[in-house]
Amino acid sequence: MTTNHFPHRPIIGLTTYRKTAAQSTPVALMALMPTYIDAVAAAGGIPVLIPLGLDEDALAELLGQLDGLVLTGGGDIAGEHYRSEHPEFIFDVDEDRDRVELFLAREAVARKKPLLAICRGHQMLNVALGGTLYEDVMERMPGAIKHDFFGVFPRNHQAHVVAIEPDSILAGTLGRREATVNSLHHQGICDLAPGLVATAHAPDGLVEGVEAIDHPYALGVQWHPENLVHDDPVMLSLFDGLVQAAQAERV
Ligand code: MN
Repeated sequence: MTTNHFPHRPIIGLTTYRKTAAQSTPVALMALMPTYIDAVAAAGGIPVLIPLGLDEDALAELLGQLDGLVLTGGGDIAGEHYRSEHPEFIFDVDEDRDRVELFLAREAVARKKPLLAICRGHQMLNVALGGTLYEDVMERMPGAIKHDFFGVFPRNHQAHVVAIEPDSILAGTLGRREATVNSLHHQGICDLAPGLVATAHAPDGLVEGVEAIDHPYALGVQWHPENLVHDDPVMLSLFDGLVQAAQAERV
């Protein structure tokens, strides 16, 4: 008889992105930074990567086999999905990735499937449910502080604080009212989608955390907790919360 805390470890799907590997001949890959995979595994889940290119029937069936979902970071969402009129600020779009993640985000919310949405994923969750984005926070949001620490700083650089709403699942999961977070984004949430509540704000007021109303665990965070777990172990609790909600789903 096993005494394993998770007799059936939850299977957590993670979305991926297209990359080109610089080999002697460039090679196309579908990829994901291992920090996401390691964080899910450290929380007791079994991580599986979701490829792009699958049709909606396949995605719907796959989601049924998963106990939880991580929407990962990446490039910008195409502006057409939130009626943007500022294409000049939008970069690194993958229309197929948008299609896959819009579908998965909407289905996960509708099915009450546990979901952790990180950075682009946090923005994707908002857009999927009808919200809009600042195409570039610094250019479009009045009073914005610097959020784009991408490229120059290490990914665990703690850039700004966030204030956390006391009655949120986020506050219960982190056990905190404030956290210092990394900030690797140039876009951000503008109009919040119906069905979401804001759970964390940066000092300039930008929405840095969201959660779906009437859902056991559908959290979005604008920062990258998977890059902070060694500096601030409480950040792993976001993945612990996902795996525990997924375990409850499985029983
Ligand atoms: Mn930020």
